[in-house]
Amino acid sequence: MLNRTILILGGTRPALDLASALCRIPGNRVITSLAGRTRKPAIPAGELRVGGFGGVQALAAYLELEKIDVVIDATHPFANVISQNAAEAAHIAGVSRLLLQRPPWSLREGWQLVADLPAAADKLLPGARCFLTIGWQELGVFEKSIDMWFLVRMIDAPKDPLPLKHYEVVTGLPYADIEDEKKLFQTHRIDTLVTKNSGGGLGRAKLEAAHELGINVLMVERPETPGGDVVVTVEATLEWLRS
Ligand code: NAP
Repeated sequence: MLNRTILILGGTRPALDLASALCRIPGNRVITSLAGRTRKPAIPAGELRVGGFGGVQALAAYLELEKIDVVIDATHPFANVISQNAAEAAHIAGVSRLLLQRPPWSLREGWQLVADLPAAADKLLPGARCFLTIGWQELGVFEKSIDMWFLVRMIDAPKDPLPLKHYEVVTGLPYADIEDEKKLFQTHRIDTLVTKNSGGGLGRAKLEAAHELGINVLMVERPETPGGDVVVTVEATLEWLRS
């Protein structure tokens, strides 16, 4: 029995699984917070709030108002602004905080690790046929890559044209099946994959497909995380909460 008010900063599979696990333990109040980046997000167990808090001070005020005992930062590994904000706000409000972050993917021989998306854009060769699986927020990085063609995977269909010259959009989550991903690569004659090192099960099939087809992979390194305790599984999070 934990009997605590727990804020999960969510938007990931582990965040959903953690909310379900915590809601099965009687006595907890479990609130998940989502940024609101997708139109139809998976709904977590427990309470849900959506949208930014309005910065560090506002998040600290929220923690105090809602009498949060613990913050579990289970956001996407590349959502480093909210992670930093959560660390500072938890410190201000005197609330414990844990980072739950799935391990990164391992690199295969021949794949290139790049520091960020601009570095990936610099490595693209003229005439490249490139698969971008980087979300929608930073597509502008490839705006000047005008002599290349892009296949862009996005969860939701874009409302406006993308800031790219030659492209096609494929909507939805990554395929779970390697053969489906291979078919996508082959149909669009992809020779380069640009992906963030998000880790986790979703997205693994595309990496296997790229490996099997000998496709050039540009993997963006994760940003720095704030200090403090880190776990990589929901089970370890529950253990941390018990201790
Ligand atoms: P971010 O850059 O870390 O955060 C930007 C702002 O969004 C934060 O300052 C905060 O606004 C708000 N925010 C982010 N996560 C929140 C949450 N769980 N609850 C409430 N507010 C939240 O994060 P991002 O803009 O969402 O994404 C950055 C990178 O992560 C991108 O590369 C994106 O592709 C990747 N990513 C994010 C998600 C996701 O669910 N967020 C999922 C997959 C990939 P305030 O300052 O107003 O509080």
